[in-house]
Amino acid sequence: MRVVILAPVGRDTRLLAITLEEMKVDAIPAANSGELFELLKEGAGSAIVADEALTPQEADALTTWLGSQPSWSDMPLIILTSAGRPTIMSQQRAHVLSAIGNVTLIERPVRPETIQSAVRAALRARMRQYEIRSRQEALLRANADLEQFAHSASHDLREPLRSIGLFSDLLALNYGSVLDGQGSEFLGVIRSSATRMETLLGDLMSYAQASNIPDELVEPICARGPLEVALENLSGAIRESGAQISAANFPEVRMRESHLAQIFQNLIGNAIKYRGEEPLRVQLHASREPTAWCFSVADNGIGIPWEYRETVFGIFKRLHTNDKYTGTGMGLAICQRIVERYRGRIWVESEPGCGSTFLFTVPA
Ligand code: ADP
Repeated sequence: MRVVILAPVGRDTRLLAITLEEMKVDAIPAANSGELFELLKEGAGSAIVADEALTPQEADALTTWLGSQPSWSDMPLIILTSAGRPTIMSQQRAHVLSAIGNVTLIERPVRPETIQSAVRAALRARMRQYEIRSRQEALLRANADLEQFAHSASHDLREPLRSIGLFSDLLALNYGSVLDGQGSEFLGVIRSSATRMETLLGDLMSYAQASNIPDELVEPICARGPLEVALENLSGAIRESGAQISAANFPEVRMRESHLAQIFQNLIGNAIKYRGEEPLRVQLHASREPTAWCFSVADNGIGIPWEYRETVFGIFKRLHTNDKYTGTGMGLAICQRIVERYRGRIWVESEPGCGSTFLFTVPA
């Protein structure tokens, strides 16, 4: 929780040193703007900068540096401004510095109490930011552990499962004729359970992989491509069900094509699977929000009871038995994982018998 100071040597620096010492705060002087950046990079609770210590270009560089901070960080900056008539230089600097978010301007001559209250507020805010950082790091670690677990579980369990499948096939082939009716039935259960587990593990793997999404913004793509991929993958089911699928518009979104295709495929696939008696209609639409696009996928299927509107997004969560509707309960969990990785959200509006509308936001 040290405070870095960039001020020309003189009255200001002496006053600041004494004032901060009274507060038992470490005051680290920087000789020039280069040193200021270095010290800030190493970590600081706040910085006090006299405005004449920066040229407009250096003020620009400071703004750029502040803009490149990690998401948890918002360095509090205290700027000492000159009293009296502003010069062209100081006006330019003020213009650049006013673009910086977390700034407190203090006009000179400064009083020790004013500095102390500004520094106290800055350090208090900075402390909260550090707390958020450690919580964010703990969450990231927990998330990475979970991903690792899902990945190795799905990977390592596949090997013994393959043997179960292979040897039950061999058993059926070589010894099928000596098994009685009940024996064949048991063997059938082993084989279908192995196949189901294979599907479950495949979906668990997709879930783990759904988190391999870069932190930085992705180049924009048109949503038409991913929709076409999804429709192609679902072409058999679409033909069989006679589903009428319509899309109103195709905006540009900042997502990987495969991720958006996966979401469309899971949502449209569900609309087909959970269709009702009426001919199935699926309508896609996108509406603009300030920094995102909100997609909706609406169907006229069986609907979802209100109390399950959040449960359905859980891992392996299903509302039906496998003999009524086949599935693993991972489709919506995968959609949620992808959408949240892009800092969006996904939810459903539905009523039993009145169809469902799934909505999700993605960066524009
Ligand atoms: P799965 O379809 O494999 O069961 P999902 O995660 O895709 O897994 O869906 C979870 C549950 O949400 C489903 O079991 C179903 O009960 C419900 N659901 C999902 N989509 C729809 C839909 N379009 N209409 C009605 N129910 C749905």
